[in-house]
Amino acid sequence: MNIPKTPTGKKLNTKGWRQEAALRLLLNNLDPEVAKDPANLIVYGGKGKAARNMEALQKIIESLKSLENDETLLIQSGKPVGIFKTTEESPRVLISNAQIVPRWATDDYFWDLERRGLTMFGQMTAGSWIYIGTQGIIQGTYETLSAIAKKNFHSDDLRGKTYLSSGLGEMGGAQPLAAKMAGASSIVVEVDRSKIERRIRGRYLDTWTDDIERAFSIIRESSDKAPVSVGLLGNAADVYPEILKRNILPDVVSDQTAAHDLDNGYIPSGLSLDEAASLRERDINSYRKLVYNSIVKEAEAIIGFKRRGSVVFDYGNDFRTRAKEGGFSDAFTIPGYVPEYIRDLFEVGSGPFRWVALSGNPDDIYRIDEEISRQMSDNRHLVKWINLAKNNIKFQGLPARICYAGYGEREKIGLLINDLVMKGEVSAPVALGRDHHDTGSVASPYRETESMKDGSDAIADWPILNALLNAVSGATWVSVHHGGGTGIGNSIHAGFVLVADGTEEASMRISRVLNADSGIGVIRHADAGYERSRELIGRGVKFRTPYFE
Ligand code: NAD
Repeated sequence: MNIPKTPTGKKLNTKGWRQEAALRLLLNNLDPEVAKDPANLIVYGGKGKAARNMEALQKIIESLKSLENDETLLIQSGKPVGIFKTTEESPRVLISNAQIVPRWATDDYFWDLERRGLTMFGQMTAGSWIYIGTQGIIQGTYETLSAIAKKNFHSDDLRGKTYLSSGLGEMGGAQPLAAKMAGASSIVVEVDRSKIERRIRGRYLDTWTDDIERAFSIIRESSDKAPVSVGLLGNAADVYPEILKRNILPDVVSDQTAAHDLDNGYIPSGLSLDEAASLRERDINSYRKLVYNSIVKEAEAIIGFKRRGSVVFDYGNDFRTRAKEGGFSDAFTIPGYVPEYIRDLFEVGSGPFRWVALSGNPDDIYRIDEEISRQMSDNRHLVKWINLAKNNIKFQGLPARICYAGYGEREKIGLLINDLVMKGEVSAPVALGRDHHDTGSVASPYRETESMKDGSDAIADWPILNALLNAVSGATWVSVHHGGGTGIGNSIHAGFVLVADGTEEASMRISRVLNADSGIGVIRHADAGYERSRELIGRGVKFRTPYFE
């Protein structure tokens, strides 16, 4: 089957805008401009897929086209298994991906089921149909690097600093542009030349080389003028130790290969991409051994950089667990980016909120940019981000915008967007959603909930409550996944999408869902003992909290 192009414009292909949004965003996830490997339905993050197989995709599309305004479609790990009569207020789609009974939630068990066609890895936004391309992570990376500037360098930005990382994949590819927006020059090591070329085409990366000296000299030559980003063709397991050996000290060091996926996400040193693929097929155990050896080599170099004074951090790809499994006992002395830099935002209900123009018209996003800058001008950080995004980010697929927004701010933005649709200033309805990597929607002890103040890192009631609450509050579709970000056995998380179709009813849903969704993040952090969350509740919120009033 050929994957259909994402419909755009005002004409419906379904029986309502809520079904239409699901159809458009599912196909947008698989647009060749957006997805990593659409022929295999892979969207991003190792093997994060949008549908189980081609037959399932075909049946999802048919189901969405025939779905009535009072019916709900059930997706079980990428496969449409049932349509039930519910109510007009109910979600149009409910999704559960990759759930496994905890004792069985191991890589070996899960990926065997996956090979047998019984389940699907949905990552976070791949199987929940709200991936917006590399833009989806760029502000998170920008916020992380900006927090490093503040916390480690006591500055507003990273001007004059160099960031070394690896992986120019679907998420990792945001690093060079995010670094530039935060004022830093960057070198990102990538083993696959086609990924480097894709990033240059998408304007995420300035230039590339396969020579370490040359990479640093490009940065030295330009650092006085403006930050520059360089893709360095090579294997991080070779390049990091070599940079260390030459006594070159980047200011900030990380890694964003897809190390969470041992079998597909990290190419071992010494093998070409084809050799890696062939060994993986022939002898998976030998392949894994090589992956572990390489990750350990890279991790040792990262700790070497740390000892000499670089700021190092783990960027949410389970790199440390892999290094530890490979025998490197110091792996967890690499700090995780959430407790170090992002938790402050999560505490006040802030996280990667986003909106997508279902019309396909970029002017709709620019009109919303303009209105946010006008109506929320007192929020200087937000307005600065909107301008940076507008001037630097090339859209992939349906035009979209991401923006870290906190409790109260999301509702304000959502209502403002619905109002623009109502007045016809935006040409068609807009989908509102977010990453699962958010304040109240995820339990992931190696990432979003690492080192919680009260030790509640692995408590996974929160994402379940989040999904249930969003469903009853009026979200258009709701998803609960296992294993996204840090891999099988390591996380449970939830997502939602809500359509702003310009109606009064949509305004009410927006108020309910956006209050509930980030409100639960505030409660989760207040419950774990974070003072700023309790203070926020004390200042007045639109929910009641028996424990903190
Ligand atoms: P991806 O599979 O699209 O890309 C991984 C890239 O790493 C590929 O381009 C690959 O060629 C490259 N690579 C693999 N081994 C390498 C090596 N040894 N040296 C150099 N390059 C190598 O994955 P992605 O979507 O970019 O995601 C990367 C990781 O980030 C995943 O683990 C994902 O779960 C995680 N992630 C983090 C966040 C966050 O907010 N921090 C968000 C989403 C995803």
